[in-house]
Formats: sequence, structure tokens, C-alpha cells
Amino acid sequence: MTQEDQLLSHPAIKDGWFREISDAHFPGQAFALKVEKILHHSRSEFQDILVFKSTTFGNVLVLDGIIQCTERDEFAYQEMIAHVSLYSHERPKRVLVIGGGDGGVLREVVKHHSVESVTLVEIDKTVIELSKKYLPSMSVSLNHPKVKVELCDGFKFLKDASYLESKEKYDVIITDSSDPEGPAEAFFEQSYFKLLYNALNENGIVIAQASESIWLNINYLKSLIKTAKTVFLNTQYCSTLVPSYTSGQLGLIICSKRNDLDVTKPCRKPLPEEQSSMRYYNPSIHSASFVLPTWANSLLNKD
Ligand code: SAM
Repeated sequence: MTQEDQLLSHPAIKDGWFREISDAHFPGQAFALKVEKILHHSRSEFQDILVFKSTTFGNVLVLDGIIQCTERDEFAYQEMIAHVSLYSHERPKRVLVIGGGDGGVLREVVKHHSVESVTLVEIDKTVIELSKKYLPSMSVSLNHPKVKVELCDGFKFLKDASYLESKEKYDVIITDSSDPEGPAEAFFEQSYFKLLYNALNENGIVIAQASESIWLNINYLKSLIKTAKTVFLNTQYCSTLVPSYTSGQLGLIICSKRNDLDVTKPCRKPLPEEQSSMRYYNPSIHSASFVLPTWANSLLNKD
């Protein structure tokens, strides 16, 4: 094998298929995509990074063996995590995105006319560089005039933000992180929710990818919601359908600092020019995303 072949190989690719296998989290099952070409493979300071062209899902970004996004279905994730939170707020002006180096969430946030500034805090500059090269439809807003990119650990950024003056606090914070194993581990703990609470305005809202689906590990989801509720009494679970995430269903948790706010209904409608740029989100799917099947509802909402 030449040096170049070695770089362009990956332990999760066998017989031309990329296989997402995690015995710890998804025992006895796996998701696979057929590989047309490996575009990049390296190990950054923080994680293993693979980008490949699949035969049916476009270009795919994989971190530490877990699919982060594919060109074909990424909008189902990016639109829901951005718009369910932003349309639950009457007038979001200052937005913070933790993680999200592919730029897809930013692309959605800047569609909101009320938004004046968005800060993206990504730990790994290699993810940003590769997304600019291989995921142009997602990274399109990384250089938008309202966007500021900070290259640092999101947990540390929020710790340093604990003493922000009120005019510097955020209206909406979106945690668009990878899963709890690796550099995003701290984002699933109570101390993180406390930092989020302190960095928000009084009407503030946070949303985070919950890294799990009701089908795979409902007990984990239950304990994550319980943790969030120790800080934000008003915590709700919603989900989106993304075929390339294991089991096809991905949970999001949304928390409001206001206890009287019903985040299960949008508090304003998308403007026509906002709505026409969206392929997944609309006000009906906003509400529907909070509805759970009977068995999951009783398991998730039972003490
Ligand atoms: N949509 C994706 C998902 O749910 O699988 C998340 C995509 S986005 C690529 C996740 C980003 O979070 C990665 O680029 C990763 O480098 C970043 N990240 C992980 N830990 C971080 C940390 N401690 N601070 C800031 N960014 C972090």
C-alpha cells in the first residue's frame, strides 16, 4: 500500500462500504453507506476525520467513526435544530452556536431577519476547512457578515462568558455538537446546562442535539432530560427524521428560561422569503416534532 493509499483508507471502510458500528451504543446493529471515493482521512488534535463521497447520499463527514452529516439529508437536522428554537423566540437577535463547524446550522440561523449576530464556537479548525472544501452547500454562510467564528472549546467559551453584561447575553444558544464520547463529552452534563442558563437573556432558549433516539437508548434520553430539568424547569423533547443517523430518528432537547413559554408551538410564522428557503421546517412540523408514540411518551415522561 502506498503512503497515499494508507492515508485514503479507514478502518470503518470494508469491501467498499463505510459501516457505523458502535457495540457500546447500538449493540447488534449497524448503518452502512456505499463509498464511491475517500476524499480525506486524517487525525486532528481532537478527533479522527473522514470525508467520503457516497454513491447515494453525496459527500459525508464522519468524526470518530460517527456520521455527522451527509449532503442528501443534512437539512432535516440543520433546519429543525435552528428553526424550532428560533421560531420559539419572539425576536432573536444574538445567537450562539456551539460546535457546528460544517456551517449548516449557521446557514439556517442567518435566514432570520431579526438576527443581528451569530457566534460559532468550534473546537476543530480542520472540520471548518474540510467543510469549506467538501461541503460547500453547508459551509456557505461561514463568511457571512453577521457571523463570527471562534476556534476554541465551547465549554471553556461559556465558562468565560459567565460574567457577560446583560446586553452581551444570548437570545438563543444551539449546541450542534458531536456525541458525548470525545471532545463534546461535557455538553451532556449538568454543569454545561448551568453555563447555558447564565449565558442566556431572561427570555432565552437553548436547543441541543440529544445524541440519542427513542429506539436505541430511551433511558439515556430520560436521564439527559432529567439533568436538563435540574437547571431549566421548562425542558421539552422533540425529534427529527434523518435517515443517515442511526435508527433514522434524532432527538433534540429544548429548554426555555421562561416557564410560561410553550415551545411546542412556534410563536411567530416564518416570513414568506424565509419559508421558501426551507425544505423541512414549517409551523406544522414544529408542533408535530414534539408528539411521541404512546410507548415512548409513557417511558420518557414517567418518573
Ligand atoms: N449534526 C451533527 C450531529 O449531530 O452528529 C453535529 C455536527 S458538527 C460537525 C459537530 C461539531 O462539534 C464538530 O465539528 C466538532 O469538532 C464540534 N465539537 C465537538 N466538541 C466540541 C467542543 N468541546 N467545543 C466546540 N466544538 C466542539
